[in-house]
Amino acid sequence: MNFYSTNDTNHQVQFKEAVFNSMPQDKGLYMPEFIPQLDDKFLKHLDEYTLPEIALHVATAMLDGAIPADDLKAIIHDAINFLAPVVKLEEEVYVLELFHGPSLAFKDFGARFMSRVMSWFLEKGEKQLDVLVATSGDTGGAVALGFLGVPNTRVTILYPKGKVSEIQEQQLTTNGQNIRALEIDGTFDDCQALVKQAFTDKELNEKFRLTSANSINIARLIPQTFYYFNAYAQLLRQGKSKVVFSVPSGNFGNIGAGLLAWKMGLPVEQFIAATNANDTVPAYLKTGVYEPKPSVSTLSNAMDVGNPSNWARIADLFKEDASELKGLITGFSYNDEQTKEAIQQVFDEYKYVVCPHTAIAWKALKEWQAENPAEDVTGVFLSTAHPCKFPDAFPADIAAAIKVPESVKELEGKAKQAVELGKDFEGFKAYLLENN
Ligand SMILES: *Cc1c(COP(=O)(O)O)cnc(C)c1O
Repeated sequence: MNFYSTNDTNHQVQFKEAVFNSMPQDKGLYMPEFIPQLDDKFLKHLDEYTLPEIALHVATAMLDGAIPADDLKAIIHDAINFLAPVVKLEEEVYVLELFHGPSLAFKDFGARFMSRVMSWFLEKGEKQLDVLVATSGDTGGAVALGFLGVPNTRVTILYPKGKVSEIQEQQLTTNGQNIRALEIDGTFDDCQALVKQAFTDKELNEKFRLTSANSINIARLIPQTFYYFNAYAQLLRQGKSKVVFSVPSGNFGNIGAGLLAWKMGLPVEQFIAATNANDTVPAYLKTGVYEPKPSVSTLSNAMDVGNPSNWARIADLFKEDASELKGLITGFSYNDEQTKEAIQQVFDEYKYVVCPHTAIAWKALKEWQAENPAEDVTGVFLSTAHPCKFPDAFPADIAAAIKVPESVKELEGKAKQAVELGKDFEGFKAYLLENN
């Protein structure tokens, strides 16, 4: 299987190159040269497979031999070693919990799979892979924990001092081993600027084999299709076969993976793109005009994206028939007031606590269901993060009801290891060169 750039289908590379480059030179995104169709037998009997079995089947079809079967199986069993349960909250309303991985967010699927794929591709004797990543919170935790202990890799995380939640900071700074954290006296944008400059610095590139763990990497997208198939499998076991997914969306990687799963043959009735005030896509679905905007800050800050980078992939998936896309996706957007109301309603109705991102997906699902009444269609909203990661988002009574996972309690006892740096490039570069 080759991968082409969405900006130039003639520019094709093998999987390894797509993984290490993240983005083609022409600033498009890599896409598989064809979308493999999963066989009917597999799709009809999804309910007989476990999550790792489903993952292996889907990845085998997509990678088409790029990684030998036994090695791919080992990668998947190592990477996808946690569950993604579908939990019933009421008749035809289920939540797909994607926060049972080490960083308690769905980004674990992408980061864990990508790290192991990268490590596998590093041939014997090859230079250590140096991953540089700027984070506003969730991405850094997933990447740090995703690469922790992965051979021949090292991760340097830059995060803005005082601007990530306590648990996020603990996830970034308590790892040791091949992970190091830099606490930058600046904003997330400053962190990102430092990483970008490092990638264009000649001396650093000669000395190190640098790569980004960018969210647009194709090796992060592929594993996110697994849990859509697995969610469907769980619903089949309960006699449900008509499913709608509501996805809290920022960069549109998560919902993009769902649409890819659909293209591979997963029978989904409808996708709901649920956003906060950064409503570029819902606005496009209503007006037909795609107009990226500067991002605005919200309570659901992992979705504060005004120009979703994965949209180019979704547009590419449906380039033959844009009306098909419009039939398949509906958009809803909500402000912070509505998000808080939704958190409260979910708590009142089910005694269940959702993070602000997840609350938006729930609200969008309920609104869609009210507009499209049908008895046999099951709604699933995706829970992208555990609520304990965002303690400030909740009133005291709801915060008190959050069950904090054991892994988080263990973090509290661990010492913070972070190096404080300013936001100037020279200081950052000197740190990298001196701490090799
Ligand atoms: C990253 C993230 C999102 C947005 O996912 P995209 O793939 O960028 O659309 C939603 N919720 C949480 C908690 C996240 O960390």
